[in-house]
Amino acid sequence: MTSKKPLNLKPSVRPNKTNNPSITPWRILVVDDEADVHAVTRLILAQIIFKQRPIELLTAYSALQAQQVLQTEKNIAVILLDVVMETDDAGLQLVKVIRNELNDNNVRIILRTGQPGQAPEESVIVDYDINDYKAKSELTSQKLFTTVIAALRAYETIMTLHKNREGLEKILNSSDSLFKVQSMQQFASGILTQLSSFLGCKPQGIICIEDNTETKEIQANNLNIKVIAVTQEFECCLKCNLDESCGHTEIMRLIQKTLLERKNQFDDKYTVFYLDTVENKATIAIVCSETAVDDSDRYLLEVFTSKISIALANAIHYQKMVSFEEASTIDFLTNLSNRRQLLYVGSTLLAHARQNAIPIVIAMLDIDFFKHVNDNHGHDVGDVVLKKVSSLLKESFKKHTEVIARYGGEEFCIILSHVSAKAAFDLFDNFRLMLSKQSLTLSNQTLNITVSIGISTQTENDLDQMIANADLLLYQAKQRGRNRVVIDQT
Ligand code: GH3
Ligand code: MG
Ligand code: MG
Repeated sequence: MTSKKPLNLKPSVRPNKTNNPSITPWRILVVDDEADVHAVTRLILAQIIFKQRPIELLTAYSALQAQQVLQTEKNIAVILLDVVMETDDAGLQLVKVIRNELNDNNVRIILRTGQPGQAPEESVIVDYDINDYKAKSELTSQKLFTTVIAALRAYETIMTLHKNREGLEKILNSSDSLFKVQSMQQFASGILTQLSSFLGCKPQGIICIEDNTETKEIQANNLNIKVIAVTQEFECCLKCNLDESCGHTEIMRLIQKTLLERKNQFDDKYTVFYLDTVENKATIAIVCSETAVDDSDRYLLEVFTSKISIALANAIHYQKMVSFEEASTIDFLTNLSNRRQLLYVGSTLLAHARQNAIPIVIAMLDIDFFKHVNDNHGHDVGDVVLKKVSSLLKESFKKHTEVIARYGGEEFCIILSHVSAKAAFDLFDNFRLMLSKQSLTLSNQTLNITVSIGISTQTENDLDQMIANADLLLYQAKQRGRNRVVIDQT
């Protein structure tokens, strides 16, 4: 067994100088105990430019030195590895360390031996996880060049696959969380976070939504968009909505381009995402990306945005459901609860009050001779009167109100709690009196309105019965001359 003494040479990391800091060189580690081999290798490889990227050579003069380099330096693409160094099989042992201890399965290892007898090609290529085997004698400069380029190409493919896998994992994870999001606001800030994490940059950006789908042509400085979410740096845009006064002219230009071309835009400084939904309303997310987005990232981002578009449609749908739910419980003219909501809330309320001995009263209130208002002043004025009476009701019964509902055309139902029959009578009678004394001025017309009210206080009855009783008492109030309150107790 021949055992060589290692040369007293230091490992080195010597990059090929490039003027452009955004170009990352291919890192190649040359491991050999002969200085001459390093010199020749450098001579051949130093001039290589592969896919616009130069070579950066790292050197080590023993397996031990190489291990140290590998522990501190990242992204080494290829190792040109001698076999016989400090021991006869130092290079082969290093292969095991690289694959099994450092767990680097990506780096391409080209074994370069001066004594093929020490490490026969057939057994070595089978037993060790190396990617190529060359005898130094057969490795002419042309062959070394070819071997290295092939190794770099293989390394690039491996890294692209890795990146794609990681990207797809990110897409799956983030679209998962975006699908859980319900409000538009939450969704928008979620998008900014996820996209920024994908691009590996700080979450800085703007989300805006196309405001007017009718407008087919997007004019300069007339973007028809609404800013819905921003990060701190763009806070001012929430107010200006990226109008002409906005200083972010570059962003405005990019939004315009995005809306016209209806696709993602990759600028040096910004990445703009175009999210389309079935509603035909486009949302645009602008993220400040500090580094250039390469082709594989672009492809993944296309997949990502199509996923996000579905989540966006989801958020819009949710928003609609909330509005629909509101519409189904609220009277559109007066903004009071509607009859459906009154019956829904009222029955729970009554059961709870009965259980806890809380006094409850239900009042039915009807505007007297309201038909005359419509006949004499028009339906629009009638509507304004209904709104006015509604807001006066809200104001006057704030303290004890559980529900105020528009029960029918000009009929209201009010449920008060924690109020005795006597106190309820006084409250409603004061309201009636106040209203009868008040002149309502509505678009140059003055009106006097009175109301009749029936109050039911018997909580042993169920809700329908209490409402029917109050209605009966209201009818009595009308019968007795209107502008009065009738209660089931004296
Ligand atoms: P009474 O004192 O007996 O209650 O007489 P009234 O005229 O108030 O009662 P009536 O039931 O005869 O007429 C109610 C009117 O309310 C008829 C209807 O056109 C009007 N009305 C119902 N809903 C609306 C509405 O949303 N807007 C307007 N402007 N009028 C409404
Ligand atoms: Mg009426
Ligand atoms: Mg009526």
